[in-house]
Amino acid sequence: MGQNEKGPFKPASVITSVPTVLVPEKWAGGNVDCGGKSQSPINIVTRKTVKDERLTPIEFKNYQQTFKNSLTNNGHSVKVNIPITSTISGGDLSTTYKAVQFHLHWGKDGGPGSEHTIDGEQYPMELHIVHMKSSYADLTTALRDPNGVAVLGFFYEVLKVSAQNSKTLVARSRVANMAVFVFSDVSFSLPSISLAQLIPPEQKLTSYYRYRGSLTTPPCSESVVWTVFETPIPLSMDQMKAFSTVQFYDGTSMVNNFRPVQPLNGRLVYRSAGATLWVSSALLAAALTTALGLSQPN
Ligand SMILES: [Zn+2]
Repeated sequence: MGQNEKGPFKPASVITSVPTVLVPEKWAGGNVDCGGKSQSPINIVTRKTVKDERLTPIEFKNYQQTFKNSLTNNGHSVKVNIPITSTISGGDLSTTYKAVQFHLHWGKDGGPGSEHTIDGEQYPMELHIVHMKSSYADLTTALRDPNGVAVLGFFYEVLKVSAQNSKTLVARSRVANMAVFVFSDVSFSLPSISLAQLIPPEQKLTSYYRYRGSLTTPPCSESVVWTVFETPIPLSMDQMKAFSTVQFYDGTSMVNNFRPVQPLNGRLVYRSAGATLWVSSALLAAALTTALGLSQPN
């Protein structure tokens, strides 16, 4: 970082190239792990997921406590550090994990923007709540443990107009509205929020997918136990579009800040007992054929 980089933003028209940090294809060059065999995100093919009875509902502790912290632009996303001790356990997690930060991935003007996809469908936005084993003091240490980090992923969907103005939505829209003001080198205070206000109610979180993967930004460490929830978070189109006004360090709009899906390389994706098997008509036909013994199961 040079000394003069804190000046006013250059208009987007003078930006001629996209910094390497923003180009996922170039990450492997500087970060060996980004070219690894267990990378995230992935496309979840629901008919190939394996039902696992051990994937019981996640236990959320202290997710209701409100906290104040600022929203910062880390060059990949807008991120909020979590200054309180909110933890998750259960759901076949090996131990208790505490929440460290949350951030979002989005598209352009409410278009496709999630990192994970379900049967090829990309949602407009995805929230990641990053946790590490409670025994660790910092994320760097946790990333050296193959099970050190647990990330909860939540999709967003565009809300129907009739459902607006709910109390929870007001809390969510605060985050969305604040995003508008996030520029490089500047962090903004958020009003008090709790993690519970950001996500669907617990009873809607029993359906989820689980697999072993990585951080989706450099250093792409393969130390993440992923939990991707089926129930999306509703947000209005206007709020979704607000994220398109966030800027990268160089002043260009931070849009499409999602990493493309990565190869599974033989990994299995498990689903909780509550997860629905989404079967489109074409897939249903394929499943029927298999069930009738007319084709080789793969
Ligand atoms: Zn993320």
